[in-house]
Amino acid sequence: MAIVRQILGVLRLRFASLRMTSRKIGIFGGTFDPIHHAHLVLARDALEALDLEKIIFVPAAASPHKLDQPLAPPNVRLEMLRAAIESELGFESDPMELQRPAPSYAIETIETFRQREPEAELFYLIGEDNVGRIETWHRFADLSQMVQFVVLGRSGEKTEHPYRAIRRHLDISATNIRNRVATGHSIRYLVPPAVEAIIRDRQLYREPQK
Ligand code: ATP
Repeated sequence: MAIVRQILGVLRLRFASLRMTSRKIGIFGGTFDPIHHAHLVLARDALEALDLEKIIFVPAAASPHKLDQPLAPPNVRLEMLRAAIESELGFESDPMELQRPAPSYAIETIETFRQREPEAELFYLIGEDNVGRIETWHRFADLSQMVQFVVLGRSGEKTEHPYRAIRRHLDISATNIRNRVATGHSIRYLVPPAVEAIIRDRQLYREPQK
């Protein structure tokens, strides 16, 4: 009987310590038009560096900063995203921003995640090119209370900001990928093969961009 009580005591302690270790979840927003290998490599870097349980990719209906940019249809961008992360451990997608009217504000997305995961630590991933204007984001003060920002290196330079940084220099952008398709150049190795197949089959990005 004493041994059973001892085992129960140890188990109770284990569960108590598990409850105290908060879950760490990364949220990665973007237009993902299309998702490409820099997104994936940097998300994996962040997952490992911050010991995150998972990263949830959240495609935007329309970014508040890119309202003039015509995008591939939301369902097709989501399809490419899902194809890119299929069977990738630790990567998930969530279509919530596509189900809300544009523009897609990060704070509204984070409030939804906060309701779903009241105990989790939330990390919001942004590219280094966005860090300069982050304080202009809708309800930035609220957002910055609710998440820790993680800045994904893009230029290879050391940029000044107060956030956790992932250093990397991958010269890949969705703009360049769309331009390459429009001008008949290969996008092999820039996007996962499943994404390349969707771009080909749906004849995306054939029109040169202005
Ligand atoms: P576009 O060329 O259409 O502006 P993009 O390649 O920047 O697109 P987004 O969908 O806007 O892709 O990217 C989502 C997020 O990922 C943004 O915060 C962006 O800054 C970041 N990001 C995109 N490409 C890179 C890259 N090569 N290195 C680091 N961060 C990146």
